[in-house]
Amino acid sequence: MIRSTQPPPASGPQEPQDGEADTGEDRILARLRALRAGDLPVKGGRTMAYVYDPGLAGLDELAAAAHAAYAGVNGLDMTVFPSVVVLENDIVGRAARLLGGDATTAGTFTSGGTESCLLAVLTAREHARVVRGVTRPQLVLPVTAHAAFHKAAHLFGLDVVSVPVDPVSFTPDPAAVRAALGPRTALVVASAPSYAHGVLDPVAEIAAAAAEAGVLCHVDACIGGWYLGHLRRTGEGAGLPAFDLSVPGVTSLSVDLHKYGYTPKGASVLLFRDAGLRRHGWFAHASWPGYPVVNATLQGTKSAGPLAAAWAVLERVGTEGYTELALRVHHAHRALCAGIEEIDGLRVLGGPAASLIAVAAEDEDVDPFVVADEMRAAGWYLQPQPAAAGSPANLHLTVTAAAAGAGTVRALLDDLARAVVRARAHGPVRVDPALVAAAGALDPERLGPQEVEQALGLAGVGPDGALPERMAPVLAVLQALPPRLAERLLPEVIGRRYRAV
Ligand SMILES: *Cc1c(COP(=O)(O)O)cnc(C)c1O
Repeated sequence: MIRSTQPPPASGPQEPQDGEADTGEDRILARLRALRAGDLPVKGGRTMAYVYDPGLAGLDELAAAAHAAYAGVNGLDMTVFPSVVVLENDIVGRAARLLGGDATTAGTFTSGGTESCLLAVLTAREHARVVRGVTRPQLVLPVTAHAAFHKAAHLFGLDVVSVPVDPVSFTPDPAAVRAALGPRTALVVASAPSYAHGVLDPVAEIAAAAAEAGVLCHVDACIGGWYLGHLRRTGEGAGLPAFDLSVPGVTSLSVDLHKYGYTPKGASVLLFRDAGLRRHGWFAHASWPGYPVVNATLQGTKSAGPLAAAWAVLERVGTEGYTELALRVHHAHRALCAGIEEIDGLRVLGGPAASLIAVAAEDEDVDPFVVADEMRAAGWYLQPQPAAAGSPANLHLTVTAAAAGAGTVRALLDDLARAVVRARAHGPVRVDPALVAAAGALDPERLGPQEVEQALGLAGVGPDGALPERMAPVLAVLQALPPRLAERLLPEVIGRRYRAV
């Protein structure tokens, strides 16, 4: 039950007129609007993670209408809702044509990148078990692979074999990937590009090694696939190496539509070499008293709203439209990378091939997380990425078409330069080494409630999980903790925020 603990907002309801029933709709919507006012904007390009704005007039209205028309349709049963099959086949066909598929390519529409990655791993595990008799499967991952693959390994019982990346390019050495493949390998993953640094893994070399070893190879093109697939139709993207299903040895590929397809959230496509491979990930059940079940995804009941909205947006923007949007993003990305390199104290990590930027500090006096706080105060959200796996602390920027206007790029660079000056004056956040040593001695598995409370307090987290406006001190502590301890404490923070009222 959702119950408001706050008085209705000032801009709230009008008194109902005589004879008019008060359904409370104005009040309800006003409450939602008031809540949203405390969030960051999803439009305008200043929130540079999580949200994607093409800046196209009328697109939101079209997507909302399509979503509403299908919100109640249940993608669970194609015999009752055959239109869902038509929409899904059309979307999968578009993705396959864009990303190196052919007549044998099969695919599935999923709720997002995480579900696509989960299903790629589940499919590979089942393929390895059924075809190769692998009972203790391994998942080979460069350390830059998305966290969704670790979630998959955790949920589906695979052992992760990590491959390090070069500290400058942030891509794995193909020879190291090859060496990690063995008889227990169910799947190896290459990112095109990686989320954290926006760099392309050597897909062709990794896929060739996989083919030679007789194991499956998944390309995670969740964030960059739709963008790069269109960019390479232009002269600017012509030099990109092949990264898709056309590469020999690549057996599956994920591409999110709710990222650079600019569709409403809940839309991704998972492509497979063929329907036989795809079938390994499906679940069928006919021995319970209810309806016969065939699930291609993790969901049961599945709103067709995101599917219809995605189809409408793809149909409206079209190949030429996406190519134009990709070019706009490409130019903005190039201008931003060049501009950031010119700011004293900042540098761009790796050689981002796509629309993402990881910005690190050039010297110790500039704390990236303090820069993020300063930028937030100036109306920008840059996403903090704590140091890990050889990558220093940095800020992630997802550049979308709405941010590509010259005015926005210039404003971002100017505000960033000012933020660095202020961060330098502020100085870096330092974590007490004694605290770090004490934390290092803790066993994350054996922390009692009191120790958790104490640790959260030291990190600056309130008893109800409240986080301070300036996050740099919290992030500094988080980054200094052993990852297992951080993974023990972070859910405690979230758990304190989410509670029934
Ligand atoms: C976003 C992303 C994912 C996960 O997708 P969600 O839609 O956030 O679930 C997986 N891999 C990469 C490379 C991504 O950028």
